[in-house]
Amino acid sequence: MDYYRGKKVLVPGGAGFIGSHLVPRLLENGARVTVLDNFHTGCRSNLSQVSGHPDLVLIEHDIVQPFAIDADIIFNLACPASPVHYQHDPIKTLKTSVIGINNLLAQCHLTGARLVHASTSEVYGDPLQHPQTESYWGNVNPIGIRACYDEGKRAAETLAMDFHRMHGVDVRLPRIFNTYGPRMAHNDGRVVSNFMCQALAGDDITIYGDGSATRSFCFVSDMVTALLQLGLVDLAAGAVVNLGNPDEYSILELAEKIIAISNSSSKIIYKPLPQDDPTRRKPDISKAKALLGWTPVIDLDDGLQKTMKYFASESAVARVI
Ligand code: NAD
Ligand code: UDP
Repeated sequence: MDYYRGKKVLVPGGAGFIGSHLVPRLLENGARVTVLDNFHTGCRSNLSQVSGHPDLVLIEHDIVQPFAIDADIIFNLACPASPVHYQHDPIKTLKTSVIGINNLLAQCHLTGARLVHASTSEVYGDPLQHPQTESYWGNVNPIGIRACYDEGKRAAETLAMDFHRMHGVDVRLPRIFNTYGPRMAHNDGRVVSNFMCQALAGDDITIYGDGSATRSFCFVSDMVTALLQLGLVDLAAGAVVNLGNPDEYSILELAEKIIAISNSSSKIIYKPLPQDDPTRRKPDISKAKALLGWTPVIDLDDGLQKTMKYFASESAVARVI
């Protein structure tokens, strides 16, 4: 990954979960990194393993507000990713997605910086095509409780592609599928962190719906490798690429795995399915394989073990709220 040596890299949202893995990898590869974060769902301690690094600057800033920072390449991760968090202030979520990327694109247009923008599998909504390919247009409720995120990310893709076509801005749009691993916040609200904290505390494991909904879970180190690769491959300018692990599991299977690896006495209980919760999700990653030469290498059992070690350690264990 010699491409990153000496490069000025801006990472909005770099103090969040994925950022806490991406930023150290960028530094390892010789990049000079500036993180912008408003600490809504992220925190300084997520970057404690690299704090004091001479090539890291951490600035508290909200990307909805204008800013100017010199960069060769930007990885925009800024946006709450968990339904609980992005629905907490949906108007802010939409502004972060749309006004935030507009600020970044304007800067890229001015300076020639490259933008890798974290899009999401949520652009497919509750998909009618399975597995999902990049050519699928999706099935999204534009006025539902998930729309602030789904439609925000869709509008961000539109804006990015229009800057690309109108002004030649080098944009790359990874559609990230469910990603998990160490440093997910204990109160993140997503399924892996909820089930792990519940299992470790001996609390009930809360399945929403009947447990038959599916997701395809990607371990965070695989995701970061894919993002770094997407940032450097020349042919990826203007590309939209699914990134995720195509191994698909039901939520019940996930709960059973987590109970087994934690040797927990927790019982499974069932709660109502939230509105517009997608029934199933599985990426077709043929494009990522061909374009990036990437394929995930950590399977779910291995990734869950690594993540469980994190939640079981130090102060990470806390009750789900
Ligand atoms: P996260 O919530 O842990 O991290 C998001 C970071 O962005 C946090 O540090 C937060 O404080 C910061 N942030 C939020 N709004 C901001 C704003 N207005 N200005 C500046 N900083 C802001 O989420 P994550 O899981 O690390 O996800 C990172 C990115 O990847 C997000 O854009 C998310 O939509 C996308 N994504 C993640 C997943 C996943 O499964 N983790 C799946 C699809 C897409
Ligand atoms: N889910 C669940 N129990 C929880 C948290 C989530 O059953 O405590 C379900 C949720 O309804 C969804 C799936 O797990 O069907 C994945 O949810 P998550 O919030 O992790 O991600 P997303 O819905 O954005 O894929």
